[in-house]
Amino acid sequence: MPQSEAPFRRVALIGLGLIGSSIGWAIKRAGLEIEFVGYARSAETRQTAQRLGFVDAVAESAAEAVQGADLVILCSPIGTYGALAAEIAPHLSAGATVSDVGSVKMAVVRDVGPLVPDGVEFVPAHPIAGTEHSGPEAGFAELFDNRWCILTPPPGANRQAVARLADFWRACGSDVDFMTPEHHDLVLAVTSHLPHLIAYNIVGTAADLETVTEQEVIKYSASGFRDFTRIAASDPTMWRDIFLNNREAVLEMLGRFTEDLAMLQRAIRWGDADALFDTFSRTRAIRRQIVEAGQDTDKPDFGRQQKNE
Ligand code: NAP
Repeated sequence: MPQSEAPFRRVALIGLGLIGSSIGWAIKRAGLEIEFVGYARSAETRQTAQRLGFVDAVAESAAEAVQGADLVILCSPIGTYGALAAEIAPHLSAGATVSDVGSVKMAVVRDVGPLVPDGVEFVPAHPIAGTEHSGPEAGFAELFDNRWCILTPPPGANRQAVARLADFWRACGSDVDFMTPEHHDLVLAVTSHLPHLIAYNIVGTAADLETVTEQEVIKYSASGFRDFTRIAASDPTMWRDIFLNNREAVLEMLGRFTEDLAMLQRAIRWGDADALFDTFSRTRAIRRQIVEAGQDTDKPDFGRQQKNE
């Protein structure tokens, strides 16, 4: 996109961790003339952001950061959105767009939507990209490349504002899709929230075992456990807020999961080889489709460096 076509002039990032910093880096890489003003809770994070240079300036409060911005993106944990929206509301410019990057969407519509003043557009968004690292030093320009960003504009949202936000995310490297918040939360419950819950649980279970030592769990982790530990290392604050704010959809998926698990348990107990083989063949095909869709690498062991390389 040529520089003159920057969809926004001045963007306020509230929250300067993995996602906020990656947005800053991605737009700088795209060469768009957008001025970034950042705000984060701690002075330390604000100073780090300024030193690293993914924002052009930092503000001393969220209210100060949004002044004059034509796009405001909430990039902090979901549990902070309501209070932040109340703080910034009186300071938003007419015609500005308020968005976010939160991993659940119904709660954002509930907590932020009513606080957005008339004359300001509200277009929630969720980039489906991340790592288990957090903080301002964790971000990088390529995080959103070829990853989906889902926009959940409310009914009657200003089409121009939605199109400009979609352009912004395309400039970050994302492909853009649209959903209702309800559907988003169901899809993400099964593709992201449930897998994280399972990972947190299995790593917790292994840590509590009495008959296998912690040393053995760590030593032999490459046999499967290791990949769960990567997910289970994800930020505790962020994930606490996700489960508190997507309760219904996660409980629905968890119910289905436990039924299917009971089916596998039964197959193992009764030696039902066909049931096990059929399930594992079906899941292998899903993995193939994910690789074919460019959402992961087919390199052995996820492309990890082998010890002898
Ligand atoms: P992160 O690296 O932990 O960064 C969070 C940032 O929010 C930090 O700069 C933190 O400031 C700031 N913050 C916390 N409370 C605040 C408050 N009350 N006011 C202002 N700033 C505050 O988190 P992240 O991974 O970037 O996640 C941020 C959002 O992105 C979450 O809503 C999450 O659901 C969403 N998301 C995350 C991922 C992922 O994989 N990580 C993927 C997609 C979407 P301090 O450093 O000063 O504490």
